[in-house]
Amino acid sequence: MIKSAVNYANLCGLTVVGYSSEPSTEDTLVSELKEYIPVKTTKIARHVVAPPSQSDLLEILADRRLQAWMQPQVSLKSNEIVGFEALMRGISLSDEIIGPDLLVPAFERAGLMNEVTLEMLRQTVAFVFSSLKNGNAITGSVNVSLTSLSDPDFCRALPMILEQSGLDPSWITLEITESDAMANICDVVENTTRIRMLGFNLAIDDFGTGYSSLAQLLAIPFSELKLDRCFIQDIDRNVQKQMIVQACSGMSSKLGLNIVAEGVETDSEWRTVLASGCTHIQGYRVSKPLPATEAHAWLKSFRNQVWV
Ligand code: C2E
Ligand code: CA
Ligand code: CA
Repeated sequence: MIKSAVNYANLCGLTVVGYSSEPSTEDTLVSELKEYIPVKTTKIARHVVAPPSQSDLLEILADRRLQAWMQPQVSLKSNEIVGFEALMRGISLSDEIIGPDLLVPAFERAGLMNEVTLEMLRQTVAFVFSSLKNGNAITGSVNVSLTSLSDPDFCRALPMILEQSGLDPSWITLEITESDAMANICDVVENTTRIRMLGFNLAIDDFGTGYSSLAQLLAIPFSELKLDRCFIQDIDRNVQKQMIVQACSGMSSKLGLNIVAEGVETDSEWRTVLASGCTHIQGYRVSKPLPATEAHAWLKSFRNQVWV
């Protein structure tokens, strides 16, 4: 109960300096609270720019202002960088960076999401291809919505993009993100099975939240499970989260899936996630998402990094 209340206060942007598990007088409470280390607050990121208009979106698409920023993933077995996730950024006409929280809903409303996802895939394929040419064997992950995956035309376009560069689909993971009641699950299952048979990898994103559930795990032939950041943040100080992550790791291992811990920010979270059985790590501890050219340079200098 107390933890839920603290969590709620954090989500509201309040700093909780501490809490008492038993009723006490005001004086004792004040002296007890002084001992507490302040609990970290979750800051809700806000963009300064307004949602882009339809004409802004078209300009972003036409003018190569849609960019795949790349965030590295580390294998906990080899301690090496083994892949990058592509995260959408738009560059506004006044050179401000627009995040996916504004772009994705706007592109969805404009009916442009399939086109935009294919552009993200094109850029990711180019990134993986040039990394391979430089001797760096890394995979690329792209976020794809269930709605896109229920569309056979979209699914046919996926392998065609790879054929143009000659890249094998096994270098690419499609992360299935948000869902809505509109996606026809029969079509999704048929299409994802075909995609998997072509050699693409499939990840269930934000596992444990929203629609990303055990039922989806049964229906779609996933190869990877991505644990949402809410289970990883402060895991080193939260036994409940450790138990949940351990249970998910055990399940993933039995199902033959890789399990990626998202949002690892500290060495202590890293060690706990490793001890809890995760196979891969992604998060600010390794790097924030970077523009593709910077990510190439970053990979060159951090390739042999000893992480923790
Ligand atoms: P996601 O797929 O779960 O991506 C991870 C998000 O967590 C990214 O936010 C990333 O920058 C952030 N992140 C990674 N490590 C850390 C960390 O250590 N600490 C914190 N605080 N954050 C971390 P981003 O780039 O803002 O993306 C947000 C969401 O937008 C994504 O969540 C994904 O659902 C969606 N998205 C991004 N790009 C695309 C895209 O191309 N297509 C679609 N359909 N959705 C996208
Ligand atoms: Ca993702
Ligand atoms: Ca995620």
